[in-house]
Amino acid sequence: PAAKVRVDLGARSYDILIASGLIAEAGGHIQRLAPGAACAIVTDANVAEIHLAGLEESLDKEGVRHSVVIVPPGETSKSFATFAEVCDAVIAAKLERGDLVIALGGGVIGDLAGFAAASIRRGMRFVQIPTSLLAQVDSSVGGKTGINSDHGKNLVGAFHQPSLVLADAHALETLPAREFRAGYAEVVKYGLIGDAGFFGWLQTHWRGVFSGGADRVHAIATSCRAKAAIVARDEHERGDRALLNLGHTFGHALERINHYDGARLVHGEGVSIGMALAFRFSAKLGLCPWGDADRVEAHLREVGLPTRLADIKGLALDAGQIIEAMYQDKKVERGALTFILAREVGDCFVAKSVDAEEVRAFLQD
Ligand code: NAD
Ligand code: ZN
Repeated sequence: PAAKVRVDLGARSYDILIASGLIAEAGGHIQRLAPGAACAIVTDANVAEIHLAGLEESLDKEGVRHSVVIVPPGETSKSFATFAEVCDAVIAAKLERGDLVIALGGGVIGDLAGFAAASIRRGMRFVQIPTSLLAQVDSSVGGKTGINSDHGKNLVGAFHQPSLVLADAHALETLPAREFRAGYAEVVKYGLIGDAGFFGWLQTHWRGVFSGGADRVHAIATSCRAKAAIVARDEHERGDRALLNLGHTFGHALERINHYDGARLVHGEGVSIGMALAFRFSAKLGLCPWGDADRVEAHLREVGLPTRLADIKGLALDAGQIIEAMYQDKKVERGALTFILAREVGDCFVAKSVDAEEVRAFLQD
């Protein structure tokens, strides 16, 4: 099974290829994309240990000259210091403007290497080889790149579209189960925001998605197609792209209160709780049937994702603190909370200026 999704952005359009075994074929794809170009591979130590040799072998076979930069795994690598190291290493490898930066890893590597590619010589071409489910269905699509500041996540960055994305469904076999599940929350998100049929399909096929093969490729491709369509309509997030934040207003607040301690809560788990809350909040406001909120929650629980604040063990949470954390989110315009709310499964909308008191009353219920 293999799929191809085209991201339509005029002269900056690109393909996302989804199939099992793409890392072993990457050399050929890169050689066709940029004949004669040299590459700098950016990856983290975990991914390097498992998948780097296969990529290098494939590049060698096609005679693609390449160098490698390995950074420590984890969110802390989205830092100014690591960014500087990556830029210096790529420049030291004598790469020129037409050469390629290859991001081999999860969302951390995609964001970091993508921002380096956007910055070096004011813009080098780059190829995403996402190896986490979250990166395959979300962060590698759409061109947002960046690093964190002491003041918050993703505050320094650039829009920089890749030239090609190679999503190797088989590479996810080595991803820790918890990371896979967390990425799956973003897959569910695409069904919830705009594709009830896909959500229904996930309810019956999720085991296939988790175990690999054709169902996994289908789920990744459908997710990428959904994100690509939204990005093509609204590349710089002035309107519709905000729908992708379903579950993220609550989710980011929880991550912030938790000080991004991944042992307790990873991003996709926060999003899962956030999506369940967004549907229940919508139901409470009379916007959406309670039955839909129950259906969403039941599916997330079925795959082992958390859906309630009480599911986060060892973190005391109160409504006031959650609302305070929401106001600190960079996507919140002062005074008004923006939420993605639901009319039903498959139909969400951007609600500007949601009353904080209604959120408080809901959370205290
Ligand atoms: P990550 O990159 O830290 O990867 C998660 C963990 O899995 C890491 O320890 C990594 O080493 C490991 N890993 C990755 N692939 C593996 C594999 N195939 N086998 C074994 N281990 C593997 O985290 P993530 O969840 O992939 O991405 C999170 C980041 O993505 C955050 O920084 C977030 O801000 C960013 N993000 C960006 C966008 C965007 O549009 N640019 C969208 C969503 C999220
Ligand atoms: Zn997310």
